[in-house]
Amino acid sequence: MRRKIIVGNWKMNHDLAETEMFLVDLKKQVFPENVEVMIAPPFTSLNHTFRSLREHPVTIVAQNMHQSIEGAFTGEISAKMLKSVGATTVIIGHSERRTYFNENSAVLAEKVNTALENEMNVIFCIGEELDDRKKDNHFQQIKSQILEGLFHLPNDAWDNVTIAYEPVWAIGTGETASAEQAQEMHQYIRKIIAENYSDKIADSILILYGGSVKPENAAEIFGQPDVDGGLIGGASLQVEDFMKIVNAFE
Ligand code: PEP
Repeated sequence: MRRKIIVGNWKMNHDLAETEMFLVDLKKQVFPENVEVMIAPPFTSLNHTFRSLREHPVTIVAQNMHQSIEGAFTGEISAKMLKSVGATTVIIGHSERRTYFNENSAVLAEKVNTALENEMNVIFCIGEELDDRKKDNHFQQIKSQILEGLFHLPNDAWDNVTIAYEPVWAIGTGETASAEQAQEMHQYIRKIIAENYSDKIADSILILYGGSVKPENAAEIFGQPDVDGGLIGGASLQVEDFMKIVNAFE
C-alpha cells in the first residue's frame, strides 16, 4: 500500500503576513492519518513556515532551486540554503518553470542530481501541452520528459523521487483531466518505469496528479488506483479548500 501525499504549491502567493494567517488556521486542523501533507510556500516564507509547523506533521517543500550548490548566480537559491531553512523536498520541472524560465530537460536533470546528492527529496513534474494531446502525442511527450529528467538515475535514487503528472492544459485553467485520463497516464508512467527499472520501483513510486484539483473533483481523481495524491495550486491558498482536498482521501 503506497503512502498518500497532498502538496500545496502556493506559487508566487502569500507574503509573510498572509503566510502567518494561513498557518494559524492550518494548525487548528487534524489531518487524516493516511495522508502526508506538504506545503510549498515562496522562499521568503519557507523558514517561518518551518518554525511555525515544527510540532505539526507537515513537510516543508521548496518550489525550485538552482542546479549549483553555491556561486555567482545572483537571485538564485541552492539546495544547501533550502535545507538550512527547513525544506526537505523540492519541486523540479514545474511547467511554469519550463515555460516562463526556459528550464530544459538538461537543466532539470542537473537539478534532480544536485537535490538528491544533497539529500533532498524531489517532486518531479511532467505534463503535456494541449496540442500534444490533440495530436495524440501525449504519451510520447511524457515518456521523453521522464527519460530526459529521471532515467539516468540509479535504482536506489528512486526512493527519494515522487512524480507529479500535471497536464499543462489543466494547470490554473479550471480544466481538469478526467479521472480516467489521469489514471491512464499514471498507469502508463508506472509501465515505462517497470520497463526501464523494475516492477518493484514502478509499484512503489508515488505519482501525484496536478491540474485544477478542487474540493469538488478531488475524491474522484484520488479514487483512481494509480493516483497517490495531488499537487494543488490555486485551491491550496485557503485552508478551508485545501483541507477539503486533504480529506478527500477518507
Ligand atoms: C500547480 O501549480 O502545480 C497546479 C496544479 O496548479 P492549479 O491547481 O492551480 O491548477
